[in-house]
Amino acid sequence: MNILLVFAHPEPRSLNGALRDIAVKELEAQGHEVRVSDLYAMHWKSEIDRADFPALAPDERLKVWRASTEGFAAKTLTEDVRAEQEKLLWADVLILQFPLWWFTMPAILKGWVERVYASGFAYGVGEHSDKRWGDRYGEGKLAGKRAMLIVTAGGWEEHYSARGINGPIDDLLFPINHGILYYPGYDVLPPFVVYKVDRLDEAGFETVAEHLRERMRTLATTAPIPYRRQNGGDYLIPSMQLRPDLGDPEATGFAVHLKDASTAG
Ligand code: FAD
Repeated sequence: MNILLVFAHPEPRSLNGALRDIAVKELEAQGHEVRVSDLYAMHWKSEIDRADFPALAPDERLKVWRASTEGFAAKTLTEDVRAEQEKLLWADVLILQFPLWWFTMPAILKGWVERVYASGFAYGVGEHSDKRWGDRYGEGKLAGKRAMLIVTAGGWEEHYSARGINGPIDDLLFPINHGILYYPGYDVLPPFVVYKVDRLDEAGFETVAEHLRERMRTLATTAPIPYRRQNGGDYLIPSMQLRPDLGDPEATGFAVHLKDASTAG
């Protein structure tokens, strides 16, 4: 398979750098072709601004959605953005790797998403009407591909458990897994999360490394998170609410978007 790993850590000699090297080595040993977008090393520009839309007339008001739609369609987006879009189309699997910073991804990676995920490419795809709300959440340009996160966190696993003070890790990562990866069509694999990393010793590192190698060996066979498909009949269109007859009518929160035995329609 072709695999793109987008790496967001400023220090190659970090724990993240070591885990990236382990992941890449294992993937290559399995015969996969791997490309790495090392965002800090690339001096990735993280903010969207006028410079992203060279075709925009100097006196024209910047409306990002419109400029993005037109720029993507006319292939006038900047070279760095187009190169990343091509990598995404090339890759069968996308891996985003980052340290958890303030409960989410580092700003440089968020900026990669904002700039690379152009309108017409990752959103604004397909028919938008009262009957169909575009190709997204399980459908879209990146459908049929797989994606997963590799995340390191300073907090303990218990701190991210169902009643942990930081909030459940699946909830914290939901905007990335569901909102950024599932949205343009990826099948999203469960994340690889390493906790309490600031106190990791050599033995702990070896355990983590072996677990990561195993995840890299099973990329093609690991079952994706069973998110409900937008256009699979589970949602009312155009209100986009889960049908009231699915699952517990009192249930709310991110987990209602998971299809499981008790809520499957
Ligand atoms: P490093 O600092 O490089 O390494 C961590 C430890 O791993 C080292 O001390 C060492 O013991 C070990 N190690 C590193 N490399 C190796 C190796 N090659 N072999 C063996 N052992 C090794 N945490 C949270 O949980 N939630 C947050 O919201 C959060 N927000 C943060 C915000 C900021 C701005 C910062 C700076 C940190 C935050 N943290 C948070 C903590 C952060 O998630 C961790 O510091 C980060 O994940 C550590 O990853 P690293 O690659 O930087 O580790």
